[in-house]
Amino acid sequence: MPSAKPVEILCPACGQESFLKRAPRYDGFTRVGETLSCAACGHVFADEASVPFQHKKKIAGFDAKNLPPPPRVFRANENARLCRYCESYVVNPFIQRCSRLEKEVEATDTCDNFKPRPEPPAPAQSPPKSVL
Ligand SMILES: [Zn+2]
Repeated sequence: MPSAKPVEILCPACGQESFLKRAPRYDGFTRVGETLSCAACGHVFADEASVPFQHKKKIAGFDAKNLPPPPRVFRANENARLCRYCESYVVNPFIQRCSRLEKEVEATDTCDNFKPRPEPPAPAQSPPKSVL
């Protein structure tokens, strides 16, 4: 028995999304083919080639925004000369200052006298503080 899988069409006669109806066509008692018609309005298509099958193809990724990432604003080493990474940078609750130039600075300042602050020693292994 034929597995009648519904075939979706876009019928030009009724303009609806419909299904293709296949009916065997006989010449006398001889089956000569199929009548292809619109299940919605009964419009008969001349042949298989004229059936407006719905091809549900979506082009994957076509509308995806494959834009390149914006250019990086900062170069990799641009932070290297910021006062906040300088050994002369001193911060206390009231002021940020440069101990070398004896003046107030900001963490984001850059300075020709920049000298990188040595990495702080790794914290000694200590028992974890209990969370209050
Ligand atoms: Zn139709």
